Order: sequence, then C-alpha cells, then structure tokens
Amino acid sequence: MQNPPIAAIATAPGRGGVGIVRLSGAGLASLIEQLTGKPQSASFAQPRVATLTHFVDDAGQVLDEGLLIYFAGPHSFTGEDVIELQGHGGPVVMQLLLSRCLDLGARLAEPGEFTRRAFLNGKLDLAQAEAVADLINASTATAARSAVRSLQGEFSKAIDALIQPLIELRALIEATLDFPEEEVDFLKSIQAESRLSGIREALTHVQASARQGKLLQDGLTVVLIGQPNVGKSSLLNALAGEDLAIVTPVAGTTRDVVRAHLQIEGVPLHVIDTAGLHETTDEVERLGIKRTWNEIQKADVAVLLTDAQHGLTAAEEAIIARLPEGTTRVMVQNKIDLAAGVVSEASVVAISAKTGAGVDQLRARLLQIAGWQPGESLFIARERHIRALSDAADHLATAEAALPALELFAEELRLAHKALQSITGEYTPDDLLGDIFSRFCIGK
Ligand code: GDP
Ligand code: ZN
Repeated sequence: MQNPPIAAIATAPGRGGVGIVRLSGAGLASLIEQLTGKPQSASFAQPRVATLTHFVDDAGQVLDEGLLIYFAGPHSFTGEDVIELQGHGGPVVMQLLLSRCLDLGARLAEPGEFTRRAFLNGKLDLAQAEAVADLINASTATAARSAVRSLQGEFSKAIDALIQPLIELRALIEATLDFPEEEVDFLKSIQAESRLSGIREALTHVQASARQGKLLQDGLTVVLIGQPNVGKSSLLNALAGEDLAIVTPVAGTTRDVVRAHLQIEGVPLHVIDTAGLHETTDEVERLGIKRTWNEIQKADVAVLLTDAQHGLTAAEEAIIARLPEGTTRVMVQNKIDLAAGVVSEASVVAISAKTGAGVDQLRARLLQIAGWQPGESLFIARERHIRALSDAADHLATAEAALPALELFAEELRLAHKALQSITGEYTPDDLLGDIFSRFCIGK
C-alpha cells in the first residue's frame, strides 16, 4: 500500500556538482513520463539503473539534464516506489525541478517524512530511524561511526537481547497465574529470580553504553570563566589549536560569548569563552557578564581560570560563592610558565595556555567528568533512550522486590517490557513520532 507521492530536495542547500530531488510514493510512473517528456521507456521501468535523460517543463522546454534512478518498492529506502533525480547542484535549478514535480502531483515532503515512511513500512525501527538524523548531525568521526552502528541495528539488537529473555520469563509467569496455589514452588522451578537478575545485569551494560552514546550525541558543554586577563581566550585557542578568539592584553576584550565546537578523543566539546567576570560600569561589558552567568547555568562544566602568579583573589572567591548550586566546576591555574615554583593543590589543574603545558591534563579531566570510557561507544543514543532504559530498570527492580507476589511481579515485567519496546518503536504514541521526525531536515 503506497501513500501519495512526496518530493523534496535531498541534497544540502547551496551549490554543488550534483543535486538530488527525491520522490517517494504511488503514481510515479506517469509523473516520470511527463517530467522526461517521453513515454515510459523500458530503462525507466528497470529498477536501480541510472538513465541519462532530460527533465522538461510543461511546454517541453528542458529544465536540466541528469540521471534518473528508480527503486521499486518495497526494495527502497521508504519501502515505496522511490525515484531520484540527479540534476545539477544549483539552488535555482533544484528548485525548478522540485516545482515541476509538485506541479505534476507530488506534495512537498515534511521534515523527516521519507524516514518516517521507512519506519511505518518496517524498513527501519525507531532507533534506526533516529540514527539517520544522528548520523547526519554527527559532529565527530566517533559520533558518526556510532550512529552508523545504530543505523545498522546494533542498538536495536542490544534492546532485543534484553527483550527476548524478558518475554520468556513473562510467558512462564503468565502461565502460572492460573494456578495460584503452586506459586512459590513454581517460581523456584523456573528460576524466576536468577532469570530476572540476569536481565537486570545485562540492562546495566546497555545503560552504560547508551550513556556513552548520548555523550557522543550531545557532547560536553564547558564554559570558561574568570576575571579579565587570566587567559580564558588563550585557553580556548589552546584547546582549539588555532586562533579562534581574539586574545589581547587589554582587559575586557571578550565582551560577548564566543563558541567553539571542538572534540576530545572523538567526544564533542562545546567550549564557550565568556566576558571576564568583574565589577564594571561599562554597559556593554555588563551585558556580557550577564550573559556569562546565563551560560554557566546551561553548561555541564564551569572551568574557573585563575592566575598561577598569585592566590585566589577576593573577586574569584566571590565568583565561586555565586556559582549556582550543583555547578560542576574545574579550577585551573593558568600562566604557570610565569610562576616557577608555585605548587598547586591536586584538585587544581595547572596549565599554561601560552606554552600548552597541562592542557592535555585538562582535556583528560573534562573527559573524566563527562564519564567517558576510553574505547568507542557501540551505538549512538538519545535522552529518550536513556529515560526508557532507566524506566525499564526501575520496573525490573520493583519486580524483584515484589517476589513472591506473582501478580505484581508479572505487572512490573510487563511495564519493563513496554519501556524497552518504546526504544525500537513497537509501542510508540503518535505524538512522539511526530516529535522525533519533525526534528529531521527536509528531504531525509
Ligand atoms: P582573558 O581576558 O581571560 O580572555 O585573557 P586572554 O586570553 O585575552 O589573555 C590575557 C593576556 O594574558 C594576553 O596577553 C595573553 O597572551 C596572556 N596569557 C594568557 N595565557 C598565558 C599563559 O599561560 N602564559 C603567559 N605568559 N601569558 C598568558
Ligand atoms: Zn577573553
């Protein structure tokens, strides 16, 4: 069963050698006849063969020439008939091609609609569909590789490996609910407790991998704070390995926030360089300082830079006192190249943003705070997955505590099962699907 045809430009906006308009749905054959100005030739009917052709407007004028590839459903990305028009990659010519397809009866695809159709047609489960977007959005090679693994079903397989023994246990339990007088013996005979603890143990491993996967997805946001001139902008540049922020000896140069998207060992690192925190009457600077406090609220880690040439200043004590409760902070003493012989506490990271000394230790400290385990994550994950896994873990814990109360036990297993199924999309409310796919870009 095919839906009405949708169309979208599948390649990124801008200019490139080739641009692609993708179509999916019913009735593509007659659309193609009109688009190419030719009766459907044998080669168009042959799937997965590229045909060089003209694309023409309603007056038969050539709009572009390029390749046409037909994928016959269900052997296509969406599971429906799909056609790719590969034209010249300019924004105007792509728009002309797309408009022509819309005139010929296709509807403009919504964001993520191709992938949504693929999901609804069973070509991908929900975790795989999400991985399509995560792969496109990946900000490091490690994140991209993890997203591909999710796309190929690694995450879904891990979830399935939890669900299978859970289904077995549930089946055994449901069977006994009809014979309540033999409950306790029966629970023993099917080793309910050890089966459950096996599942719980396996779940903790999946949770750990998923947390790694989510870190690859979101990255760690670090805000650099401190008084003017302690070397915040210099540290950003040292972390980036290039001159990103303006560094000058005049205090108060970074009046607004500067964001850099870097990485440490494949983990995305979002660094925010801020205006120096100090008392000032300069209106522009005050605005910058206000923004700095906003950024601190949102960041995962606040790195407080101080000058190794002297101890904590009163202003720095005041900054520490004002940090919102629960802020994860790292104390960094900078300019150790100017402070020979100064010994800092173990919790303090001593660096020179100028020479680069200690910057690797700071990187390591940040990875440690992020909870990154060396080695690659097996798959990419999202907050939604983390929550579903912990929901399942909670229900399994409650189930264990419920023993030997069979009905409660069975109910908690059912809820854990449902939570796990929501990850691959077997039990997913429509509004959640809408939310997930609307975050895609158009044409995916
Ligand atoms: P910010 O106001 O905190 O962003 O500080 P900047 O990064 O603009 O640095 C202020 C001044 O300190 C500049 O002249 C830098 O070259 C200098 N500076 C920064 N880090 C170091 C360091 O580790 N050693 C030395 N010797 N100078 C540094
Ligand atoms: Zn600065």
